[in-house]
Amino acid sequence: MDPHSREKIEGFFQWYSDLYGNSYFVDREKIDRKRTRNEPIHPSPLEQFKEEIENCTRCPLHKTRTNFVFGVGNERAAILFVGEAPGKYEDLQGEPFVGQAGQLLDKMLDHIHLNRSDVYIANILKSRPPNNRDPLPAEVEQCIPHLHRQIEIIKPKLLVALGRIAAQNLLETDQPLSRLRGKIWNYKETPLVVTYHPAAILRDTSLQVVALEDFRFISKHVK
Ligand code: URA
Repeated sequence: MDPHSREKIEGFFQWYSDLYGNSYFVDREKIDRKRTRNEPIHPSPLEQFKEEIENCTRCPLHKTRTNFVFGVGNERAAILFVGEAPGKYEDLQGEPFVGQAGQLLDKMLDHIHLNRSDVYIANILKSRPPNNRDPLPAEVEQCIPHLHRQIEIIKPKLLVALGRIAAQNLLETDQPLSRLRGKIWNYKETPLVVTYHPAAILRDTSLQVVALEDFRFISKHVK
């Protein structure tokens, strides 16, 4: 490079740095606008995926839902809990397990010194079935690929199926819950354990003792 060109380039950088410090070529205004709106500067893969699917119309449940219930928690969680489908409060708030069953789930997490920001929580279905009926096979078929992708992105060390519907659909089996509990299964390459759904524990509180044993096992397994 001839000395004249070098001098011109150095002069340009000197002038630029006098004006903007070390922030060369950064659109500060754009970043500040995103910051004040609390928008992520670079959406994470999970956030990007949420944006892609949150207006999903694959199954008829999109017509009756208030909110699409994507999932909540830590994107790098070691444990991913899977429930069945949003209920009334989840549909209203757009977050899984916020009703009575969710409060019990929080207590059980607390029992193993975790809270919902340490784990990830999602459901087999992202939209509420009317009157909380069981998901229909056609709804599961349309919706479960979203959960498969979430699992692929989060890569948990352990999957926990909460109740029969989650367990049977993740493991593609029709075995009853009594056969599925108490063993370690494999979902693709990820270990999976099955425990009672918190709503079942609310209906029959005698299940809580065994469910808490499952939670202690879960805690040990990921340590
Ligand atoms: N039951 C579920 O299975 N999932 C929820 O999100 C709430 C209740």
